[in-house]
Amino acid sequence: MPVADVYHELINATSEYEVAQIASREAIARSAATNAYLFRRTGPALRNAGHETAVSLSCLDACTDQQPWLLTTATDDPCLAPGIREVAALALPDSDALLVVTRGRGQPFTTDTRTHMATLARPIVDALANVDRLRSMEHMALIDGLTSLGNRRRMDRDLQQTLRSAEVSNQPVAFAMIDVDNFKTYNDTHGHIAGDKVLRTVADTIKANVRSTDVVYRYGGEEFSVLLPGASPEAAYKVALRVRDAIEHTEFPGEATQPNGSLTVSVGVSGLNGEETKDVQHAADKALYEAKKLGRNQVVLTSAEPGCG
Ligand code: GH3
Ligand code: MG
Ligand code: MG
Repeated sequence: MPVADVYHELINATSEYEVAQIASREAIARSAATNAYLFRRTGPALRNAGHETAVSLSCLDACTDQQPWLLTTATDDPCLAPGIREVAALALPDSDALLVVTRGRGQPFTTDTRTHMATLARPIVDALANVDRLRSMEHMALIDGLTSLGNRRRMDRDLQQTLRSAEVSNQPVAFAMIDVDNFKTYNDTHGHIAGDKVLRTVADTIKANVRSTDVVYRYGGEEFSVLLPGASPEAAYKVALRVRDAIEHTEFPGEATQPNGSLTVSVGVSGLNGEETKDVQHAADKALYEAKKLGRNQVVLTSAEPGCG
């Protein structure tokens, strides 16, 4: 395939695995190799980008930015079984990637191989930069920038998955909505920057007081939520009480001006005890509303009603 077509195919790849598959196919075609691999260097370790399993070639350690071209015979690498193979490796410029080709003993590669492989270097490097960017954008789209917690989109996704697997396995699952009390007052009195700091502290405090299997999200504004897989509603209620208590006892700058003299949260909890899926999010939201009505700084537990979850 002409390089321009390969470039086009590579630049449209949406995963590192796909880039590795195309790179391997083209490297084999160009250098009459039997196998080709795309490795990426993470610190001192090499990771095979084209395979889920960790495959490594220890002879590649010698192929570096300073020594980008390596011709060798691999003699002792169990990953190359069956048989001993000739190896050629090219460290791709401006990249952590290594393009590697192998074939049977006695058929060494030559410097022509380097020329063929080098034609693929730029398209592969550009394609990897592309998929890396894509992955970090996908990651960022699920993360809240202020607190680094998962955002609402991530919560929606996780909640659906967790509810589905809880229903299949008849395991309990609980959900909590947490809202900072009278936060508008705090913002109006101390300003948005101080408000942002409070939100970060609240996020850290919630995280520090839930179980390691629980996941905390920033639902939006001054609202947080917690997904508690495997927790009965009653167990989740206890976790929520601990969170409420911890926030009340955390010192926030200037909190004495809050209506009840302290910065606090209200929490609504709901959950399922291994029964069929119900709308726990709606139920937790209702419970939160009740907690507000009870005067704030409260935890309320309600049972979920039938719904789509
Ligand atoms: P309640 O106890 O009923 O929840 O009262 P509240 O004042 O907390 O609720 P309200 O919904 O009236 O106000 C929420 C405030 O949260 C208003 C908004 O300025 C503030 N807020 C939302 N997002 C952010 C943010 O990202 N940073 C800061 N500093 N403030 C935020
Ligand atoms: Mg609110
Ligand atoms: Mg609030």
